[in-house]
Order: sequence, then structure tokens, then C-alpha cells
Amino acid sequence: MSGLVLRPARESDADTMAATEIAVLRPCRRLGERTLARRFQRQRLLRAQCPNPSCITLAKTVYLTRMAGFSAVVTTGIYCRPGCTARPSAENVRAFPFAAAAEAAGYRACHRCRPYRWPQSYSWTAPELVCRAISLILDGALDQGTETDLGGRLGVSARHLRRLFKTHVGVTPDGLARSARAHFARRLLDDTELTITEIAYAAGFGSLRQFNRACREVFRESPRELRARRRKADRLIADGGLLLRLPFTGPLDWETMAAYFAARAIPGVEQVSGGTYRRTIVAGGDPGVLELSAGGDDHLILRAHLPHWEELVHIVHRARRIASLDFELDEPASHLARDPTIGPLLDARPGLRPPGTWDPFETGVRAIIGQQVTLAHANTIAGRLVQRFGTRVAGLEPLGLTHTFPSASTLASADLDGLGLTPARARAIGLFARAVSADAVRLDRSIGLDRLIASITALDGLGPWTAHYLALRLGEPDACPTTDLGLRRSLPRHAPSAAAAIDDLAESWRPWRALAATHLWIADQDAVTQPRVARGAA
Ligand SMILES: [Zn+2]
Repeated sequence: MSGLVLRPARESDADTMAATEIAVLRPCRRLGERTLARRFQRQRLLRAQCPNPSCITLAKTVYLTRMAGFSAVVTTGIYCRPGCTARPSAENVRAFPFAAAAEAAGYRACHRCRPYRWPQSYSWTAPELVCRAISLILDGALDQGTETDLGGRLGVSARHLRRLFKTHVGVTPDGLARSARAHFARRLLDDTELTITEIAYAAGFGSLRQFNRACREVFRESPRELRARRRKADRLIADGGLLLRLPFTGPLDWETMAAYFAARAIPGVEQVSGGTYRRTIVAGGDPGVLELSAGGDDHLILRAHLPHWEELVHIVHRARRIASLDFELDEPASHLARDPTIGPLLDARPGLRPPGTWDPFETGVRAIIGQQVTLAHANTIAGRLVQRFGTRVAGLEPLGLTHTFPSASTLASADLDGLGLTPARARAIGLFARAVSADAVRLDRSIGLDRLIASITALDGLGPWTAHYLALRLGEPDACPTTDLGLRRSLPRHAPSAAAAIDDLAESWRPWRALAATHLWIADQDAVTQPRVARGAA
């Protein structure tokens, strides 16, 4: 992994400081680049042992800049996202992994590159606990709960959590939450016609006063002033639903992902046509509809039809997960590019990301139904289950939608006879629903992959395939259902076919096995749907 640290990620990064400084760093041969990088990583950037002091300084800067999403300029008090056309001189620049950290250090957002319009994405290079905490915070864990509650969910004290955040994130958990809310609100001020009060609640603020205070802290202006300065080009015309941009960085192969969802769509709940993925959701107990479609090179368009705007911020964050928009491709792609099996697939589809999900419980149930039956058969059974236990929503027929998916507590006590499920699978769904209701299986990503897998496979009828498949769809980057038939089919002919041997092969894909598995699935799907000749040529 160490080698990755010193490599510029994309062509566009050539504009940032990192690229220029890597050129300076390379001539130092007394300590190899990789060794140096490894030491920096191990020692958390504090002390490196390269005998050439100027080399150390440079390597340190490179590391920080590359790992950080944002750079702040000491002399102007402004912070930018990478790729901004502003070019300050290097000695005045400080790097921050999060916009919130730059704000906590007293910097304000650049007017030119507008960092608040970009996702607060995070790579899984920080300690796992910190990553899980960030993910929970962006999901709204601190809107109602406190830092103590959050720590409790993760099994640490609030004090320890704050200490970890200070070291790795540069801002307290509460500070990160406030910044994320303010950024989301700013986008609503720019992009929509919602009133300022509506925006306060949509972004997860408890009151208009809180919203005003956060805006002044983060942007140094009131919501009213910010709205007055918005740009015409940002406004999306909302007719029948609220239109929002979901920004992402790096490539995204939305077309392939939409086709993947189409093949597995649950009738009545999900529908895919013309590159748009639609689905019903439950927001604050009421039904709604989300539509996700291609927007541009750097954003998808979300059309949200919701009964109210409260908590919109979290609905948007969850919607991002469907297309894995927060999955940072840089590191996994450069890791897997060297693999003889995955490398060529990665070249063919550089924007493919592991498919995510809106509702992990629904995906778990759908996975159990799909054990060892065809996609079409599984879809039919899932449709029957929704007809019987889902909640009917009137008026959505033009979108091809009819129901919301039943909750875990509904299915926990449901009689699943007569749906076409084998008794064993019907029982497995019941067990899964009861375990999720009772919090014995946690699908909020507050626990590590191993614990998640163990909690799922502890249930009768749920094996490693189901557990890893669900974990992958949940966004666990190292989840990998190695026993998957499609995955094994698309391994090259010379590859071993015994399950243990495939596990060995997959070892070299760690910690990014989910992306590798996704590429193998899609390659298998291509092989099934395209003539053999075409595949041979690829
Ligand atoms: Zn800028």
C-alpha cells in the first residue's frame, strides 16, 4: 500500500501541489520512496528517518497533500478542493483531510472552487473505527444523539473518540456533523427554491437559530446573504419532485450499475428504465420515491418525491450509497491494476464501483430469496412477498411502483407460506428479520466486517455467500463472496476452481476485494449476454 501514497491519483491532480513535489522527491535514493512512505504511514507523519532532511520535509508534504482532500492558504485564510485553479506558493499551504478540519482551523471556503459542493468523502486509510464513526456521523448519528451515544455504538468512550478525531480528522465529531449540515444546506440554498426555514430542517438542524449560527461559523454569512449571492447556473428547475445534484469524484460507470440494479429489481419497489433507477422509500414513517439518473461527468441527478423535507440531508446521503458515490476509487484501482485477472477488467470499466443499496435489510432478504435460484425467479418471489407484506402506495403506477418494502419487524412475525420459497429459506428470512429487529445483526456499519459476517452466519440458512454479498452491498470494501458462481465462472480458465484456492487468489485483492468481485460479476454477465467472439476479443 505504501507505494500508492506517493503517486498522483489522476491527470487532473497534475494541477495540485502533490504532482510538482513528487518530482522533487524522486531523486532521493538514500532511502527508497517506498520505505519512506511506509515509515511515514507507520509513524503517522511525525518522525521519519531519512538522513536527508529536505527530502523528509518534501515527502511529508507530498504525503499530506495527496491524502488530504483540501488545501488551505495561510496568507489568505481560504481553503480549496484539489484541482482549484488558485495557485498559491507551496510554503503557505496547509493540507486538511476534511473541509470541516480546515474550517475548524479558521479557514473559509474558496469562492472559485466552492468545496461545499463536493462530497465529504473519506478513504478507508484512517483507522477503521474513525471511518465507521465518520460514516455514522454523515448518516445523522449526531443530529439526535450525542458524542457519548456515538462512542457507545462503536464501543469506545466519547473522550477516546474525540482524541482519535483530533489526530486523524482534525475536527471534533460534533464539528464534522455541523460542517456537513452547513454544506448540505448551502447546496439547497444554491440549487433549490426551498425556503430558508425548510432548508434548516431538511439539513438536519434543530432550529432556525442553529442554522444561522452554523452558516456564520462555516461561511461567515447568514443564509439570507448566501442565497442572495447564488449563481443562476446552479438552479435546477423542480417539477414534480425536488431535483438535486449528487456530486462524486473520479469516474462512475452508472450505466453498468443501473443495468445491475435492473436485473435484480424487486417488482413494485424498484424499477429501472432509460438509465433511471427509481424506488419507493420510507422517510420518517411516510412513503416517498427517489429517482436516480445520469447527470454529468461529476454528478448524478436525484429527484426526490418526499412527504416532507425534514431529514432530507440523510436521505440524500443514503441515496449516494446506492451508486457508491463515496467509494474512493484511487487506491483500490491502483492496487488491483497490478492483478493479472482484475487489471484488464479494470481497464475496460474504470468507473465501475461496487453496487450499493438504499435499504440493507431489503437487500439481505432479496439475497436470501436469491440463494441458488435464477434472477428472474428470485424477482418473482420478491414481488409476491412485497404484494403480501409491503405497504401499498397509491398513485405511483406511472413510475412502475406500487409498494414500500416491508420492515424487519413486519417480516419477523410474517407467515411466508405460499410465496414459492423453500421452507428452509422462509425460515432463514424469519430469522434474519428477527435478528435485525433485535439489533443482533447490525446493518448500520457500526461494526467491523468480521463481526458483521459472524453475526449473519450465526443464523441458520445464512452462509458466507449471503453474508459477504450483503456486506458488499452495504459498502464494506473488503467483502467478497468467494463461493459465488458468477464470480468463479469469470475467473480465467487456468485459475484454480476449488473454493479454498479461490480464497487464496482473493487474498491478493485485499483490502479491496469488493471491487474485484464486482468486476468479475460484471464480466460474467457480459459473457452471458454477449456473443462469445466479442468476449474473446476483449
Ligand atoms: Zn479554490
